[in-house]
Amino acid sequence: MGTEELIARVIAAVDARRDEIVDIGRAIWAQPEIGFREFRTAALVADRMRALGLEPREGLAITGVRADMELGVPGPTVAILGELDGLPVPDHPAADPATGVAHACGHHAQVAQMLGVATALRAAAIEGHLAGRVAFIAVPAEEYVDLAWRTEQARAGRIEFLGGKPELLRLGVFDDVDMAMYIHASSDPDDRRLSVPAGSTGFVVKRSRFLGRAAHAAAAPDQGINALHAASLALTAMGMQRETFRDEDGVRVHSILTRGGDAVNVVPAEARLETQIRALSVGAMQDAIGAVDRSLRAGASALGAAVEIETLPGYLPLVQDPVMQRRFGRVARAVVGEEGWTTRPAFKASTDAGDLSQVLHLLHPSTGGFGGTIHGASFHVVDETAAYLDPTKALAGTVVDLLADDAAGAREVLAAAAPRMAKGDYLSFVRGLASVERFEG
Ligand SMILES: [Zn+2]
Ligand SMILES: [Zn+2]
Repeated sequence: MGTEELIARVIAAVDARRDEIVDIGRAIWAQPEIGFREFRTAALVADRMRALGLEPREGLAITGVRADMELGVPGPTVAILGELDGLPVPDHPAADPATGVAHACGHHAQVAQMLGVATALRAAAIEGHLAGRVAFIAVPAEEYVDLAWRTEQARAGRIEFLGGKPELLRLGVFDDVDMAMYIHASSDPDDRRLSVPAGSTGFVVKRSRFLGRAAHAAAAPDQGINALHAASLALTAMGMQRETFRDEDGVRVHSILTRGGDAVNVVPAEARLETQIRALSVGAMQDAIGAVDRSLRAGASALGAAVEIETLPGYLPLVQDPVMQRRFGRVARAVVGEEGWTTRPAFKASTDAGDLSQVLHLLHPSTGGFGGTIHGASFHVVDETAAYLDPTKALAGTVVDLLADDAAGAREVLAAAAPRMAKGDYLSFVRGLASVERFEG
């Protein structure tokens, strides 16, 4: 059977299982859970995998689940992912009343798509025509939230990294995976039904604590050291760095003041800032991190205060694999037509898909079918065909495209370029980003 006929068969299998796939999406939408604690969603995934005759491994990075579909002939491993987590948006109408967590980023649809691909490949009975293996991996904790709880888990040794994919990478769950794909929700009408963004930013977090000396703010300000003024100068210096950032690097530096003094008649002895630094490449990230560090030290220096700077690694920039993009684009156009397909500029938010994309071949397209504001109370599914079924068809069709004909497509991906970082280099790079510095101004 030719590749085109096989693709048509899996696409027809998605249509035949339409209700089943949509029901999974609805069920997960109705039970949103926070990252690393998606126990009910993980159980649902494992149950569905078992129902398809797969053998899930559970409890990976606390809640991750992986099951492999062997295709009979040895070959590359293609992973289809689904993110398990929601995020806190308490005023969302579908938020869990107890936790305030909602699927305001559309990850519920990814899990439905992942299980939909497994269902369609099984139903189309095409395993004998493909080479290699498909790994279905439900991944915890994409959203970088709930940091107090996660830091506590890290201190207790239950996780090392605060995001699910870095943690699964560390644990070796991706060691035998050659390439991975999954599709994110988009409510931007410009994105059409299926699209591929050029990439996304990586980021780090800086928590800085300026330390001065308290004194009466009116009677003896000369005897104090104003930590709020030091922090405020640091913010000004960061703002003045902006003209040095190149447009194409997509740098974003944004801060909040989380402590600015305790009483208005006391010179503030302590002020705290929290800053996120984002950029579209690892080099531009490092450059912007340097500019922020100099700004923080400059604020402390000018006032004679001290500053403690704690750096927490966030996520790395997302790089789309060009061969996978070309192959996915061809299948996607067959599913949604030329007018439903587009490519678009990089987005300025960040995802831990970026970490994966530095270590293996990755494609992370977007799908329409959603309305409202992402991460907002208005975010919801407006078109179930576009949100659940079109992306499932495009993913299942691309799996066939990659693994048919003795996996010629997947072999083309592997031959075109090696991933940017080996796993060991990735782990030492990310661990190297974590630091605590004290600077005496
Ligand atoms: Zn999100
Ligand atoms: Zn998301």
